[in-house]
Amino acid sequence: MFAQMESTGLQDLHFAADPATGLRAIIAIHSTTLGPAIGGCRFIPYDSDTDAITDAIRLARGMSYKAALAGLPHGGGKAVIMQPPQGYNRRALMAAFGGFIDNLGGRYITAMDSGTQVQDMDAIATRTHWVSCTSRTGNPSPSTAQGVFEGIGCAVRHRLGRQSLCGVRVALQGLGHVGFEVARLLHGAGARLSVCDLDDQRCTRAVQAFGARRVEVNEIYRLDADVFSPCGLGAILNDDSIPQLRCSIIAGSANNQLAEARHGDMLHRRGILYAPDYLINAGGLIFVALNHARASAQQISTKVHSIGAELQALFKQADALDTATSLLADQRAEAIIAAAGQAGGNCSTSIATAQ
Ligand code: NAD
Repeated sequence: MFAQMESTGLQDLHFAADPATGLRAIIAIHSTTLGPAIGGCRFIPYDSDTDAITDAIRLARGMSYKAALAGLPHGGGKAVIMQPPQGYNRRALMAAFGGFIDNLGGRYITAMDSGTQVQDMDAIATRTHWVSCTSRTGNPSPSTAQGVFEGIGCAVRHRLGRQSLCGVRVALQGLGHVGFEVARLLHGAGARLSVCDLDDQRCTRAVQAFGARRVEVNEIYRLDADVFSPCGLGAILNDDSIPQLRCSIIAGSANNQLAEARHGDMLHRRGILYAPDYLINAGGLIFVALNHARASAQQISTKVHSIGAELQALFKQADALDTATSLLADQRAEAIIAAAGQAGGNCSTSIATAQ
């Protein structure tokens, strides 16, 4: 575990168990150099403690990079609650998790992630105010989807030289909270959609609402599409999937899309323009962080729209240097965090006001 922490640069790792409610939770804090760590809370079954720890550590680093590149006064963290098999009171368990967060005194702010919903955040808020995405503050997914939509438009302009998404062929994997909204925005812009999801009903809804073509889950990679938009799971860009790809652009919401860092270079060498996941999907984090800092809806929307310009600058730099976008994004995020560390950092427990 310590080797894993050291190799990812993780600052600290916290555990809580509460037999009365069945709570078994992990909070991984990657960095508080730029400010309090922020990141969602997963509530899913894990095969082992090790799997849960690995998930929390991997995701926490991505949150640090995401916050740094989005210019937010936050470090990265992630929480994982191991979902008990059955026989638990969800509200009581979430409230106990709120107590765990509160003990960290504001070093970590939680939010929604896979398996958690607004009602869970409300239960957590009964024990701590270091929580976002409550029924008062709302759901980040539409902001994530808006940022992904901006990013797809930007990548299409850059790589295909097309100013409009009309007629652009998009293969979209995953029609959940974010993917379905991305599909809605793309359809509104005239894109031609091919979609897949493990859930039949979600596919049927997309076919009916957007005239999308439904394809099988393992067919999506080899479609003749302009854009592949992964909005389901992580690690889908790997040794198996990359050789199948026939798209020019990859731009989607899923976290940790590259199975390993070297896969970013593999995409570059195949001539595929990759929008780094933690840059293009930062809309949700922007929503959570600025909402928590009580920014206005207009400020949040302006910041989410700026994702396109950030990506544009990265794409140009990657072309000029003939380098993988993922490598440049990692370097840029690490440089921002390192510079803040040299300047004395900001490990305060209070939330900075949104800029
Ligand atoms: P979700 O759970 O609502 O939806 C995910 C969808 O993907 C589900 O419909 C699921 O059936 C489908 N799916 C899973 N594996 C699949 C596969 N192999 N092939 C096809 N479909 C598959 O999740 P979400 O909130 O929409 O998030 C989607 C992704 O975006 C996740 O990786 C998440 O971590 C990331 N993300 C989400 C947000 C947000 O605001 N919700 C923010 C940043 C990143």
